[in-house]
Amino acid sequence: MIIAANFKTNHTRKSTREFVSRVDEYAKKIGSSVEARIYPVATALDNFEIDEHIKVGAQNFYPTCTGSFTGEIGFEQLQEFGVDSVLVGHSERRHVLKEGSELIVEKFNFAKEKGVEILYCVGEPKEVREAGIDAVMTYVWEQFSGIDLEYERLVVAYEPVWAIGTGLTASYEDIKEVLEKLRAKIRKPLLYGGSVKLDNVSEILDIENCDGVLVGTASWKTETFIEMIKTAQNKGD
Ligand code: PEP
Repeated sequence: MIIAANFKTNHTRKSTREFVSRVDEYAKKIGSSVEARIYPVATALDNFEIDEHIKVGAQNFYPTCTGSFTGEIGFEQLQEFGVDSVLVGHSERRHVLKEGSELIVEKFNFAKEKGVEILYCVGEPKEVREAGIDAVMTYVWEQFSGIDLEYERLVVAYEPVWAIGTGLTASYEDIKEVLEKLRAKIRKPLLYGGSVKLDNVSEILDIENCDGVLVGTASWKTETFIEMIKTAQNKGD
């Protein structure tokens, strides 16, 4: 199972280091086999010496190694910190930062060429959800166009846009239905994301075809994130 923390624009270098070190300490102490992912802000990336089941990845990058892209971060800079996992297609990049599908596919292909793990996010806005499951799936499959579903290191996160950072979670039935439809074509780990909290993570992890969660807001507190890892670990025992 994968339990991933997206820090978005939160935490500093110092608090990220403390967070990573506490998660690492916990994972080592219990011999956790849960795959933990932590995506801090780029300025907090570092060469962390951590358990093999934990990766500190990048929330974003520009599809280049180096070059003239003022303000962007390329792969040479990520590789300096041994980054081996990246987020691509997160809804805040698509909808808030207006990243188009062409750039998203370019980023995916670049990361794929570099051989890193790609946590690829898809999900529908509220009006699409209100139009029903067929509309949701048409929208979501469209977000996969140009994306190699056979990429060995692909992880997919289904994150309804209206559930991200809003406190609203999709119903267990809705999550189950979408994951089942994704599973028909995708043989890679499938995560759910969208207001996952300590009080719903266990039920979400129990949903058929759910291989983990991508957590924003609730993951920013170390204790909560560790509790989520513990919940996932207990399911594996
Ligand atoms: C996310 O950032 O991917 C996310 C799911 O955020 P939140 O848990 O805050 O909804």
